[in-house]
Amino acid sequence: MTATVLEGKVFAAEIKKSVHKDVEKFIESQGIIPGLAVIIVGENAASKVYVANKHKACEELGIYSEVICMPASTTKQELLEQIRILNESTTIHGILLQLPLPDALKHDEAELLKAIHPDKDVDGFHPVNVGKLAIGQEHLVPCTPAGCIKILELANVEIAGKHAVIIGRSNIVGKPMANLLLSRHATVTICHSRTANLPSITSQADILIVAIGKAHFVTKDMVKPGAVVIDVGINRLADKKLVGDVNFEDVKEVAGAITPVPGGVGLLTIAMLLSNTVKAAQLQCHKEHK
Ligand code: NDP
Repeated sequence: MTATVLEGKVFAAEIKKSVHKDVEKFIESQGIIPGLAVIIVGENAASKVYVANKHKACEELGIYSEVICMPASTTKQELLEQIRILNESTTIHGILLQLPLPDALKHDEAELLKAIHPDKDVDGFHPVNVGKLAIGQEHLVPCTPAGCIKILELANVEIAGKHAVIIGRSNIVGKPMANLLLSRHATVTICHSRTANLPSITSQADILIVAIGKAHFVTKDMVKPGAVVIDVGINRLADKKLVGDVNFEDVKEVAGAITPVPGGVGLLTIAMLLSNTVKAAQLQCHKEHK
């Protein structure tokens, strides 16, 4: 058996098409354009590429996009002031603080993320949005796990009643992923670096989500035949090649369906950011009219 390959570009195109329609509807009904501001601090080359891609994707779908580049020497106060201005702006509906921050600001990350208004928090990292997700009131949900759910839904993978195993418990992927699957009635197991006998757990998964950051970590002996495997990992090998956390060639022999890296989950992340931006704009207009 060879797994069905779940191509990110197919799902991302579908989401973008629907977001584009929502943007047009929003502009028509409200007379304003949804707006996203991305703040980037310092000179991280990978971050600059991500931010440029986000800007381009916004332009394609008719979303107003502002990229605010601040020098690595920016202080916490200056950044808080910038966030305050964007929180009060009527043209900006979504605010994203590009991570990682320069070393000098790393220990302020939680405070800075908390300064973004929860209704403009398109990354879904604000404690209010984290809490809402945990109690089943999805508001603005982190883009990568939201993208994984979209892949499962658009590929018609049944979630309710299935055993979903997640490897990784980070705040940006593993934990929100667990809550999203739980609220869709999966039975959820979360594994991490202290999990004992990992393969005995992963091989029970109907849906296996892998987000650890270790190249080719998951091999076919860890996967139940027919399982749906979603690979979130992005790892660069010594030869510069990008690979996932799953050994794709090996696992595709036993899995029922599998996402590739590159060309899988990563493409959904930006699509979900655009979706969150329109959702944020809708939420803010709805509140204004109440
Ligand atoms: P983190 O480093 O924050 O978390 C990694 C998690 O994996 C931790 O919970 C850690 O456990 C667990 N882990 C590490 N080693 C093992 C092991 N040997 N066995 C079991 N669990 C292990 O990573 P992120 O969640 O931020 O990202 C994970 C991967 O996803 C990375 O490759 C990242 O680049 C990628 N990513 C991709 C995105 C996309 O758009 N496609 C977006 C975000 C991330 P513990 O908690 O015990 O340390």
